Amino acid sequence: MTFESLGLHASVLKALTESGYTEPTPVQAQAVPAGIAGRDMMVSSQTGSGKTAAFMLPALHKFAVQADEQPMGGRTVNQEMQSARARGERPRFRAAQPKMLVLTPTRELALQVTTSTDKYGAFMRRVKAVSILGGMPYPKQMQLLSRNPEILVATPGRLIDHMESGKIDFSQLQILVLDEADRMLDMGFIDDIEKIVANTPETRQTMLFSATLDGVVGNMAKRITKDPLIIQIASSATKHENIQQCVHFVDDLSHKNRMLDHLLRDETMDQAVIFTATKRDADTIADRLNIAGFAAAALHGDMHQGARNRTLDGLRRGQIRVLVATDVAARGIDVPGITHVVNYDLPKFAEDYVHRIGRTGRAGRKGIAVSLVNHAESMNVKRIERFIKQLIPVNVIEGLEPKRTAAPRSNKPNGWRPGDNRSGNGGRPGQRTFSKPGNGPRREGSAYGKGPRTGDAGSQRRSFGER
Ligand code: ADP
Ligand code: MG
Repeated sequence: MTFESLGLHASVLKALTESGYTEPTPVQAQAVPAGIAGRDMMVSSQTGSGKTAAFMLPALHKFAVQADEQPMGGRTVNQEMQSARARGERPRFRAAQPKMLVLTPTRELALQVTTSTDKYGAFMRRVKAVSILGGMPYPKQMQLLSRNPEILVATPGRLIDHMESGKIDFSQLQILVLDEADRMLDMGFIDDIEKIVANTPETRQTMLFSATLDGVVGNMAKRITKDPLIIQIASSATKHENIQQCVHFVDDLSHKNRMLDHLLRDETMDQAVIFTATKRDADTIADRLNIAGFAAAALHGDMHQGARNRTLDGLRRGQIRVLVATDVAARGIDVPGITHVVNYDLPKFAEDYVHRIGRTGRAGRKGIAVSLVNHAESMNVKRIERFIKQLIPVNVIEGLEPKRTAAPRSNKPNGWRPGDNRSGNGGRPGQRTFSKPGNGPRREGSAYGKGPRTGDAGSQRRSFGER
């Protein structure tokens, strides 16, 4: 299939050729024509599958067609303010009137969407995308809004501030996108999202993207979309086949650190992301690695946006080879050179494991994801295995063998059958019952699990314990 056959505008096609994209990814093949046709959609598809273009290409297409129809277009708010000044009048701030709003859970993700939009819209006249983010200086945000951008990419909290102070007017909004909707709900943005949606016109087109469409996210998605097309490309079970995963058992901290050094000296390593449980550990490990001669840097939520951006730039440009990060900071890192992900600590939530390892193997490349695990944590590994419906092999490095052999692990998680992770039967009754239904805490409206897995849904979301 080609992008031409999806019916995209010539200026968008040109940008795709320039970007080196030869054919649409599966999610793009489905979402782009539906988006052009103006349909609402609810989409779940794995990380790295090209969701940004799936919603941005039809939107840019629409704006390109509108620009063709109205070649002169309207003046921007900024121009109006300038001519008011020229007339000696006091310019009045006019609210920005975006045509498209993309909500994302984190600042990094928002910046990434803006960058992609600039790339896909490079050959269009008069399409501006700006990010409105927490942590950005207020005058800077006002300056961005005064350019009256067509496309606004924002995290929900900061957007509410501007909405409530009358700086943004959504009456002209045509398209609303919720990117990583499940994550936004996890981060407690539901009220903000509802408030923002309530401020947009009923006539809008709504596209929602999420790792799962079950439970709370699915309910919200159904509330805010009209007759949505449901696109489900791959379940978590078939994710990440290009990423080689393994577990190494460690005896203690010093063993863990020696293992880490060994992994980082791997010749096939180009760039690596190391995940820690705490910001403090991220800083400490980055310092230690720098002393050991690795070009390392930390990335976590306590850092200023400027420092975060500099670090991500350094990573993108290859000046930083090893990034030591916490979960909060890591979402949205999209650097093709990342060959290795190391879980120095296991994630608190099983689904974070999936997001972490998705930092490698971007754009169809191969990647390696290694988890360093204490013997006492083998239950947590099982939980992750149940979540990804896949066994993670245990590897041993010669000379760095753990003193204790790995805790007796059955070769298969309860009820797992060979090939289940590929069968895609999505939980047929009587199969893959990982724990008895009704076992463990139940959560009303849990976003995860269905059918025979319901009993496990609560525990998948349960924290592995504070550190
Ligand atoms: P997702 O949001 O699904 O995680 P992204 O939209 O961030 O995925 O895209 C992941 C990577 O794939 C990006 O580097 C992007 O440039 C690249 N990409 C997207 N679509 C295509 C395509 N059709 N051909 C080649 N690369 C693509
Ligand atoms: Mg994305």
